[in-house]
Amino acid sequence: MGRQAVNEGHNTVRIASHELGHILGLPDVKPGPCSSLMSGASAGTSCTNQYLNAQGKASVERKFAGSKVYARDVASKFALAVY
Ligand SMILES: [Zn+2]
Repeated sequence: MGRQAVNEGHNTVRIASHELGHILGLPDVKPGPCSSLMSGASAGTSCTNQYLNAQGKASVERKFAGSKVYARDVASKFALAVY
């Protein structure tokens, strides 16, 4: 987890969800609003949103659309944490 972001006072669940987003293949989208999970720290320390927006969900679903069933199941389990 981003120790510096924790020390700066960012929401730890948001940080973990953001990092899961990277595991699912999503890039940083900075700067960005609090409604965007992948905007990360640029949304400020008051932001506690820990969920992907519709655009992020669609991006993950596109990335895994052609995957084998097992990989898609794993992705879905991870995605549940950030959806
Ligand atoms: Zn990031």
